[in-house]
Amino acid sequence: MPRTTVARIDTSAIRHNYRLACERAGPARAMAVIKADGYGHGIAAVAKALAEDAPRYAVACLEEALAVREAGLSQPVVMLQGPHQQDDMAVFARQGFQPVLHSHYQLEWLRALQTAPAFWLKVNTGMNRLGFPPQDLAAQVEPLLNAAVTRSALQGFVTHFSCADDPASPETAEQTRRLCQATARWPHLEKSVGNSAAHFLAEQPLFDWSRPGIMLYGSSPVIGRTGPELGLRAAMTLEAPLIATRTLKAGDRVGYGGSWVAERDTRMGMVAVGYGDGYPRHAGTDTPAAVRGRRIRLIGRVSMDMLAVDLSSVPEARDGDSVELWGPQVSVDEVAAHAGTIGYELLTGVTARVPRLYR
Ligand SMILES: *Cc1c(COP(=O)(O)O)cnc(C)c1O
Repeated sequence: MPRTTVARIDTSAIRHNYRLACERAGPARAMAVIKADGYGHGIAAVAKALAEDAPRYAVACLEEALAVREAGLSQPVVMLQGPHQQDDMAVFARQGFQPVLHSHYQLEWLRALQTAPAFWLKVNTGMNRLGFPPQDLAAQVEPLLNAAVTRSALQGFVTHFSCADDPASPETAEQTRRLCQATARWPHLEKSVGNSAAHFLAEQPLFDWSRPGIMLYGSSPVIGRTGPELGLRAAMTLEAPLIATRTLKAGDRVGYGGSWVAERDTRMGMVAVGYGDGYPRHAGTDTPAAVRGRRIRLIGRVSMDMLAVDLSSVPEARDGDSVELWGPQVSVDEVAAHAGTIGYELLTGVTARVPRLYR
């Protein structure tokens, strides 16, 4: 019998969330961001689930883009970091992968080609990770528009927001202004801005292409809001069985270091999931979970293969019951907050030991 620790993936939730992204994107089209194995949900399954709706995908590296082709899908795939090696360029051109070029060495690789792939230029409007500075853009664009190989291959400009998760930050509007100013000379070229969070900012234009990622999976991109509050549906339910239950006496300790001490007699259970499955070790006592439709809490330290829960609120819980670690009842964002991280890290961190089961 296989272990019943599983990640159930609801592909209809992914479709629902993508449609919400499209509604919120207004006139912009949304390229579905499916990097990092579809944020841990399985890149091929996510790509297929969105195949009828998404006109374009976006990924971080070549292996991910090839996985889309291996899934039998022919949409263009935007390569958010561009090529990592010169040979990548020819593959991009053959496969319909669209690199976002951010550095001079990548432009040199482009110029060395007989046939250029459709490509984008990254503009650094303030994130200061990647991209050409706005004042430097004309010096890059004009030669590309004057060269036969690259002229019609240049799609447009990409920039990335650093603070869109905080509606109170003025930075997103400022980055938008810098992008518009830097690209005003080429109105025929497209603009792509907007991670998931930007879809929830009032008055924020998303131009030609937005790039929703985390929201497709139902986790909240906005500080202080949960996915369901934003109309999103959890796409992953991380589930594991109760494999032991007992009643502790007041004063009994639980787990490594004996860090949790029962104040009174307490019904408790052990759940077969731990940091070896990607459950965060930093999620401590009081992190929520659910069993039999009711919320329970973790107690003590998370181990590699199990964790302990307080069953006081569900005394009828039995060995073999399935516990939801995150999903529709317990938002991954809540668990992340208890672990001092973000839903992104938890979803992408579910390990290969956990089978993904698709519905
Ligand atoms: C990952 C990524 C996105 C998607 O961001 P989310 O916050 O997950 O929506 C968009 N654009 C770029 C450049 C990215 O790297």
